[in-house]
Amino acid sequence: MNAPNDLRSLTTPRLDPRPVPPAMVEALKARFGERCSTARAVREQHGRDESPFDVPPPDAVVYALTTEDVAFTVALAQQHGVPVIPFGVGSSLEGHLLAVQGGVSIDLSRMNAVLRVNAEDLTATVEAGVTRKQLNEAIRHEGLFFPIDPGADATLGGMAATRASGTNAVRYATMRENVLGLAVVTASGEVVRTGSRARKSSAGYDLTRLFVGSEGTLGVMTEITLRLYPLPEAISAAVCHFPDIDAAVRATIQIIQMGVPIARCELLDAHAIRAVNAHDKL
Ligand SMILES: Cc1cc2nc3c(=O)[nH]c(=O)nc-3n(C[C@H](O)[C@H](O)[C@H](O)COP(=O)(O)OP(=O)(O)OC[C@H]3O[C@@H](n4cnc5c(N)ncnc54)[C@H](O)[C@@H]3O)c2cc1C
Repeated sequence: MNAPNDLRSLTTPRLDPRPVPPAMVEALKARFGERCSTARAVREQHGRDESPFDVPPPDAVVYALTTEDVAFTVALAQQHGVPVIPFGVGSSLEGHLLAVQGGVSIDLSRMNAVLRVNAEDLTATVEAGVTRKQLNEAIRHEGLFFPIDPGADATLGGMAATRASGTNAVRYATMRENVLGLAVVTASGEVVRTGSRARKSSAGYDLTRLFVGSEGTLGVMTEITLRLYPLPEAISAAVCHFPDIDAAVRATIQIIQMGVPIARCELLDAHAIRAVNAHDKL
């Protein structure tokens, strides 16, 4: 494939279709009213992410407002044997949201309340549809921030599901290290709670880590407890030029080994610089 346009035309395989039966659509409409849509445009918007693949849309989209809405939908889907696909804002890059078997997309973007900020123990609990920028806006006045930054203003549910990272990972690691606990609706429609605000617990399996990175396959996360950090007193940035990639990598290794507290690090090679210059007309 040479160009994004070629990639766009890739066809996505349809596997063992399991369409939503009319009785299930009726039950969803009875509960959700206008928050359940079978309109083509809405379905297509929910059947794509930022990947180049064709859109196989889901058969229906529901907008959840509560954990109970999610549990209802998942239990109904189990009863009718159809898939469910949790949806954040659709910024993922690997075709996660394509409804290859049909099914119901559960849009969590309206579950967007910051439920608790515990400034003393540096944690916050949010609904899964809260975006990282929304959380940072809500905690800024406490002198705190949430550092995981995958570029897009993704939901924290989507970020936990994809175990997102970003340029801040150098210092603050990834979602794996920063999710402390979850409320999750499992495939049977049961709500389970994992982890706690405590940094360490040795009781039982570490289910939080099992769900983080599971890409919506093990359950739908509805609440997330996250680790927060103090806003740095000062931030400085530098652009450094290197004769080749090898020199850049060696310098980075030395900086980290010497304990210089860098938070972000990003490498731009000649192709990337050319693209930036072309985009910004520099
Ligand atoms: C310009 C750009 C740069 C990016 N850079 C990075 C980067 O540097 N590092 C990085 O890690 N990612 C990066 N990404 C990818 C993207 O931002 C992440 O995948 C993001 O974490 C997805 O969040 P979302 O809300 O958009 O989720 P969606 O795309 O809506 O969903 C992603 C997956 O998570 C599942 N899901 C969503 N919400 C839930 C939930 N509540 N419970 C269970 N499953 C759920 C979905 O079913 C799907 O499988 C980038 C994306 C863009 C567009």
